[in-house]
Order: sequence, then C-alpha cells, then structure tokens
Amino acid sequence: MFEIQNFSIGTFRQMEKLLKVEFLHEENIVHLFHSENENAETLDRIKYEKFREQIELNSTQIENIKDEYGATEIKNSGWINCELMLDAYRDYLIANNSFSIDDFKYDELEIKKDVFCYQNFEALNIIFCEGYQKNKNPFFENENIIPCKGDVLTLKHDNNGNKNILKRNGCFLIPTNKKSIKAGSTYLWNNDDEQVTESERNEIKNKVNNILSDEYEIINHQTAIRPTTKNREVIAKQHQQYKNMFMLNGLGTKGLSQAPYYANYISELIERE
Ligand SMILES: Cc1cc2nc3c(=O)[nH]c(=O)nc-3n(C[C@H](O)[C@H](O)[C@H](O)COP(=O)(O)OP(=O)(O)OC[C@H]3O[C@@H](n4cnc5c(N)ncnc54)[C@H](O)[C@@H]3O)c2cc1C
Repeated sequence: MFEIQNFSIGTFRQMEKLLKVEFLHEENIVHLFHSENENAETLDRIKYEKFREQIELNSTQIENIKDEYGATEIKNSGWINCELMLDAYRDYLIANNSFSIDDFKYDELEIKKDVFCYQNFEALNIIFCEGYQKNKNPFFENENIIPCKGDVLTLKHDNNGNKNILKRNGCFLIPTNKKSIKAGSTYLWNNDDEQVTESERNEIKNKVNNILSDEYEIINHQTAIRPTTKNREVIAKQHQQYKNMFMLNGLGTKGLSQAPYYANYISELIERE
C-alpha cells in the first residue's frame, strides 16, 4: 500500500510543477476515539513496529473539539484539493488541444486494424475510464462496477488555525482554509442516485456534531458516486481481443491514492505493446 501511496504523492508533486498550482496538502490526521475500547485497541496495535512509525501518541491540542476519549495522530497523511487539480489539468489539456467535452458514443467507435477512429479523431490506443457509468461500456462486459453514493458538506467554521484533518467514527473533517471545512461522508451501496437528500445531510451533520463543540453553518452539500468492485480490485487491464484497448476503473473509495499508480501501469502496458 505504501508503494502505491508514495507513487501517487510523487506524481501529484510532478503535476503541481507542470500545472503551477498547489493542490496536495500534507497534514496529519487527528484520530479522535469514540470509546474507551477503541483507545485501548489502538494502544494495543501500536505495539507493532509498522503502526508505530505511522502514529503519534500525543496528538496536537485543538480548540473546540470533542476528545473525551483521547486521540492519536496519524502521520504521512494529507488531502487533495480536487477541484483545483482537475480544473488546472483540464485547462492544460485544452491548451494542448487534447480535451473534448462530449458524451462518448460507443457505437461510433470504428475499430480498424492499427487505429481507432471516432468522429474526427484517430488514435493508436484507447483507455476507458468512465467511473460508475462503465456498465454502459459494451467492450468490457465481464467487469462489474458497484455504484456507491457518498455525500460531502462544506461548512463555514472558524478553524482557529487548525490545519489537521479530524476523524472520528468514519467521519472526516478537512479544514480547507481558515474558515471552511469539508465534512463527509456517507456510503450508500448499490446506489447511483445523483440527487442530494436530507437524510444524508442529517447523517453527516450528526457525525460533525460528535466532533465539533462550537458553531458552524452548512454552506454546500454535494454528492457523487464511487465506482467500487466486489473484491475492491482495481480494473486496470487490456482488452482480450483488441490489444490497444484498455480500461482503468474500480478505483472505489481510493481513487486519489491509487489512480496515478494504476494509470502508470496502463501506460507501461501500452509501451510494451
Ligand atoms: C464522497 C466521496 C468521498 C471520497 N473520498 C475519497 C478519498 O478521501 N480518497 C480517495 O482516494 N478517493 C475518494 N473518493 C473516491 C474517488 O472520488 C473515486 O475513486 C474517483 O473519483 C474515481 O475516479 P474515476 O475517474 O474512475 O471515476 P469518476 O471520478 O467517476 O470519473 C469518471 C468520468 O467519466 C465521465 N464519463 C462516464 N461515461 C462517459 C461517456 N460515455 N462519455 C464521456 N464521459 C463519460 C463521467 O462523467 C466522469 O466525469 C471519494 C468519493 C466520494 C463520492
């Protein structure tokens, strides 16, 4: 796992240089225990060397949080400003004449001996990365994606200078600037409904109330669908018949930490071909 994570961090740092924007923020996670039991179990696990390297027992003191059962701090963590990264990368691709905004129509793809033809484009290779909408792809029919809906709230909150990510009982709070927090998330399996709902808003709100002890205001509510697979296996593969056709999908709940590694794997497959 560390190999995959380190590869991703290296790739994101290279992208930041290329795009001249900073979107990767390396910050520790303050893990707030939700019970005496969890505290004791964690102390037990820390006996093992590999956990000890990752965990700081004396966590940073943060104002206005509920830490009645104590906390530890997880090192080598961070968060990515996805909007900033994706906007900057899209602008870069547009400037290099490599981006087109359209629904890909599978039945318009012509497969010739050495080339793919699609509308005005010709390409030597094609990589499908459609997220949860992969199930419409007629070329990779055996791989199944299970959609998993998840919501995120944006909160207006005075973070009192705290930059650490807060986590308790499956809920994360990421301070994105001095006055703003992203809070999530929910997991609705086999659900591809892109509408936000009151029940998920309330679920996250209740979790936030278990972490913050001061005032905040919900200023945004977003939802998206994770492309998961049955055994959490990433789909990074070549088509059995068309050797220049590939798929990258099934990144599930870990798209950011895993995508660079598996994208590189596909690019190595292409070079080998
Ligand atoms: C609430 C939430 C929290 C998350 N938290 C984390 C986290 O903390 N860490 C982490 O690593 N990951 C996290 N993830 C997971 C991460 O967002 C996903 O793993 C990642 O987005 C998957 O990337 P993807 O490119 O495969 O699919 P997507 O991001 O879904 O992108 C697929 C794209 O393909 C487009 N598309 C599909 N079909 C077509 C077509 N026919 N023509 C044209 N375009 C098409 C879609 O419109 C979409 O833009 C989270 C996800 C959610 C929902």
